[in-house]
Amino acid sequence: MRLDFFPYELRLRHVFTVSAMSRSVTPDVQVTISHGDYIGFGEASLPPYLGHTVKSVCDFLTWVNLEQFDTPTDVDIILDYVDNLSAGDNPAKAAIDIALHDLIGRMFGAPVYQYYMVDPSRCLPTSYTIGIDTPDVVVTKVREAEPYKILKVKVGRAPSEDKLMINTIRSVTDKPLYVDANQGWHDRDVALEMIQWLYDQGVVLIEQPMPKENLDDLAYLTAHSPIPVIADESVQRSSDMPALKGVFSGVNIKLMKSGGLREAYKMIELARKQDMKVMLGCMTCTSCEVTATAQLMPLADYVDLDGNLLVANDRFEGGVAIKNGLLTLNNDPGLGITIKE
Ligand code: MG
Repeated sequence: MRLDFFPYELRLRHVFTVSAMSRSVTPDVQVTISHGDYIGFGEASLPPYLGHTVKSVCDFLTWVNLEQFDTPTDVDIILDYVDNLSAGDNPAKAAIDIALHDLIGRMFGAPVYQYYMVDPSRCLPTSYTIGIDTPDVVVTKVREAEPYKILKVKVGRAPSEDKLMINTIRSVTDKPLYVDANQGWHDRDVALEMIQWLYDQGVVLIEQPMPKENLDDLAYLTAHSPIPVIADESVQRSSDMPALKGVFSGVNIKLMKSGGLREAYKMIELARKQDMKVMLGCMTCTSCEVTATAQLMPLADYVDLDGNLLVANDRFEGGVAIKNGLLTLNNDPGLGITIKE
């Protein structure tokens, strides 16, 4: 088996602002694993807040020697080897995991979801993200989001600014909203007041309202919130999960945090054992990461898989599609993505 990779900068359709920063590009590394006539695609998308760089991903991928394996079907052996090469590097590991799943699916003529034995007919509406912006831009973005049944709204600033954002959206649409504070609130009483206000505005869940390490405050919010409180920055892999029982109502699982589909599936199983809800998320990315994550959609309660819709230079076509507002899987082998002509 042969591993190849190259940096690929993603250009965002709109400058994207969350509570801590703004950006207009996302660094990314595109990966392929080939075996005989077959090729699988993978991706490491690298939002700056996770601390990975194109160089750190490429350095990691340079250490990986897949030539030592005769067949891609030894999935656990290969992914254990990759995982044991370092303690972190989850996006690089995810890129290999995704490409390996895609490769095997193409070899056997089966979509990746079959590997996890899930029912592909269970489609969910993906939320579509509206970043922090001025009211006129927010109105434009909400109008552009017409095909989507749920909007995800970034908040996490002062209550007056957050309320302006929500009121602006509510002046255009009454769609259900997911709200993500990206750790932006710092006083739990103010946060709880905001959550109660958001609930009154038709918000159905709140993601990471306070800093990831403030577990006592987050547990307090979860105990008193009328809507589910979902962990994002507080969780990366399955080893983080036991500490979050009772602290959050659910977890946002992303392949770039978990290191790939294999670990994400383990996290879903653990979340269910811990009686927690499951959200599947992604970074700003191409259809490769989105389509890979969507293979587990039938196991989730919520999906926020709009990363490919936010970039202007998606390399792929033919992966997941939005039909009647629902994210739908294709039945093609592997991920079913092809490089655009
Ligand atoms: Mg989030």
